[in-house]
Amino acid sequence: MTAIRVAIVGLGKIARDQHIPAIAETAGIELAAIASRNASIDGIEHFATLDELLDGRPDIHAVALCTPPQVRHAQAAAALKAGKHVLLEKPPGATVSELTPLVAVARQTGRTLFATWHSRFAPAVEPARAFLADRQIRSVVVEWKEDVKVWHPGQAWIWEPGGLGVFDPGINALSILTRILPRTFFLREAELSFPGNRAAPIAASLAFSDGTGLSILAEFDWRQTGPQTWDIRVDTDAGRLTLSSGGSRLVHDDRTLVDAKQAEYRGIYQRFVELIASRVSDVDLSPLVHVADAFMLGRRREVEPFIED
Ligand code: NAP
Repeated sequence: MTAIRVAIVGLGKIARDQHIPAIAETAGIELAAIASRNASIDGIEHFATLDELLDGRPDIHAVALCTPPQVRHAQAAAALKAGKHVLLEKPPGATVSELTPLVAVARQTGRTLFATWHSRFAPAVEPARAFLADRQIRSVVVEWKEDVKVWHPGQAWIWEPGGLGVFDPGINALSILTRILPRTFFLREAELSFPGNRAAPIAASLAFSDGTGLSILAEFDWRQTGPQTWDIRVDTDAGRLTLSSGGSRLVHDDRTLVDAKQAEYRGIYQRFVELIASRVSDVDLSPLVHVADAFMLGRRREVEPFIED
């Protein structure tokens, strides 16, 4: 079978760190071109824009959109209309509703639309889901705290409307929670902290519940220095389950069940190949819906300006 020829659009941090190595390690798919205004890679055909790529390489089967969310809808629509399969980095868009027409075009054209949630491919996530499936859950606490200056230096788009601010990493925690908890949940209360000079929050406190009154608390903060925290603790009738390091470790009480190197993007590309072969899409918007709810329900408070030195 011919390998899927994929082009990366938006050659930035995540494309270089994760997509390029993962494509190289995945059977059935190969990197055939790059579309990026300011960046290229030796030995790979380069186009400045997606439109030029679509004109110049009609043989490309798929595109992986690694651009910021604010520009993703127009790019996904153009690629789907040109008959390409489309992989969306997270978050899948800058609004929830913009995904509906994309899903419709994918269905009409018989192409695959894959809204990826890379944290769901972390090694502890499926074991955590299996553990929690038939447990009584008593409480859930999420702490997702990192230093924005370390992880997002110079990324102006992330502070703009649609860039999500601290929800850019926080949505990873929500993508795990929506996968591992056996029941759906909803936002009850939230407080979002906006630096006076920015259009997106630097921190968020969220209180969710489900139909049974379960308490699910989440703290997202971009002002963490020193050790970084990407943890979810679930208290159950069978003890405490702790997912840490973004889903690469799983501990039940004091027994380690999983402690593995993350290979999230290899999982993403294997799934993309399978979805294309089966001619189906995978678009779960539940993490994005929770973020939209936080912007809708959250009380806003102004905090000190964020200055990037
Ligand atoms: P990034 O380093 O800023 O890279 C994005 C690239 O997209 C830029 O290098 C730029 O390349 C292109 N771009 C930027 N603005 C554009 C515009 N207005 N129109 C067209 N192209 C534009 O960002 P990133 O960290 O790779 O993040 C990209 C996406 O991946 C985000 O949705 C993010 O949430 C997700 N993600 C990031 C990480 C991470 O650790 N960084 C992890 C997982 C997921 P050109 O200037 O060359 O066009």
